[in-house]
Amino acid sequence: MQTLQTTKAATVWSYFLNICTIPHTSKHEQQLTNWIINWAKEKNITYSLDDVGNLLLRKAATPGYEQKTPTILQAHLDMVPQKNHLSDHNFLTDPIQPIIKEDWMHATNTTLGADNGIGIASCLAILEDESIKHPPLEVLLTTDEETSMAGAFGLKAKTLQGKILINTDSEQEGSLYVGCSGSVDLNITFPSINVPTNPDKKAFEISLKGLKGGHSGRDIHLQRGNAIKLLVEVLDNLKELPFQLSTLEGGNLRNTIPREAHATIVCNEKLQGSLSVVINSLHATLVDRFHNSEDSLELTIQPCALPETVISEQCQQDFLNCLHKCENAVLAMDPDFSNVVTSSSNLGVIIQKNEAQPHFVIQFLVRSQIEHQKVLIVEQIAEAFKRCGAKYRINGNYPSWKADLDSNIYKTVSAQYHKLFNKAPQAMIIHTGLECGLFSNKYPDLSMISFGPTIKFPHTPGEKVNIPSVDKYWQLLLATLEAID
Ligand SMILES: [Zn+2]
Repeated sequence: MQTLQTTKAATVWSYFLNICTIPHTSKHEQQLTNWIINWAKEKNITYSLDDVGNLLLRKAATPGYEQKTPTILQAHLDMVPQKNHLSDHNFLTDPIQPIIKEDWMHATNTTLGADNGIGIASCLAILEDESIKHPPLEVLLTTDEETSMAGAFGLKAKTLQGKILINTDSEQEGSLYVGCSGSVDLNITFPSINVPTNPDKKAFEISLKGLKGGHSGRDIHLQRGNAIKLLVEVLDNLKELPFQLSTLEGGNLRNTIPREAHATIVCNEKLQGSLSVVINSLHATLVDRFHNSEDSLELTIQPCALPETVISEQCQQDFLNCLHKCENAVLAMDPDFSNVVTSSSNLGVIIQKNEAQPHFVIQFLVRSQIEHQKVLIVEQIAEAFKRCGAKYRINGNYPSWKADLDSNIYKTVSAQYHKLFNKAPQAMIIHTGLECGLFSNKYPDLSMISFGPTIKFPHTPGEKVNIPSVDKYWQLLLATLEAID
């Protein structure tokens, strides 16, 4: 860890290593909060804690900077607890063990918590250091960003006095984030009319698996296969061979592109040969179609035990039709930013419930930078299912943060980046949610930007932060605070 002491961001590192020793996973931030409160008391820094656990610290402007625009620095207190099979780490009691390898810091078989620990550390380093020049300053440390955004949801309007907010929770040095998508969960309940299976028939399980999956925001533009959609497409191609659907399930998280889906169908035994031929041919077609994005796509068919019930003919037709036609994956790209998705939907999960009233639960996650487009996409999907007798529920709605490249803070940070590193930063919009979306809802006049060091593989035991990028992030943060007008 000695090499860190000679970097420009040495104080940031020293706070970060301290944070690593204090457990602070989502919903268990209390120890870290207490440590920061004690630290603030020692340093005579004013602080307050709100009902949901957000910590707000305040520092007066550097003499001569009192009239500059009051500014908020923001990070989240919690980290994601992930470890690999080699680790017996207890995230509630054990310190994170950081390791340096060349230019990167990672942890021993666990997440590191650089997301967003480096952000917290830089806030504390600024509060402590009297030589740093800055406008009137608030540091907002939110709680439980990673699982529910409870801190940002629970933050009250009129708590913050600042007019500019710098969010430190983005992960690509050289990129300045100026906007993010909003999202909403759409949950559909599709009633299933089950009838007894003809005992003379044969049953087969059709499986689509081996797909890469990925995050439904960050990875949605990568043209990967959605196992549920592809399996439904396969079933649609079997229409010429009369079959009855008995089960269909796939995926496990609404915000993950499903990697696997399975269906059970029932048909005459004599169709077995034709079924295998069609499935093999569809497999070859899919492998060819996804040759750029998937390398282990498997489509298989196997005889299985005859189920007690199948779905009635009309119900099967309506159900598969709705699934086949619903909007999925990238729906619009941003005209102004290259490679940025504006709107998308992810059919993430289908679960079958054979209860007193048998039904399917179908979960979508819809994202868009444009609020009314988000509503339109949800309505379009939901209405098609509703026409076939399904019910739907919308929840988890959170707003987008609308990009503004004309904002003063964007111009200031961009100019400082140019001055420091002699090149232009890249303005970016992220197709996932940042807390900024929720802040912009409560503080419509707040001017925001997000930047941070380079962090690879966040939320996994492979999480690592690039050490030189922390220096650049720190320099940019200090230059920005000094330059805010
Ligand atoms: Zn984060």
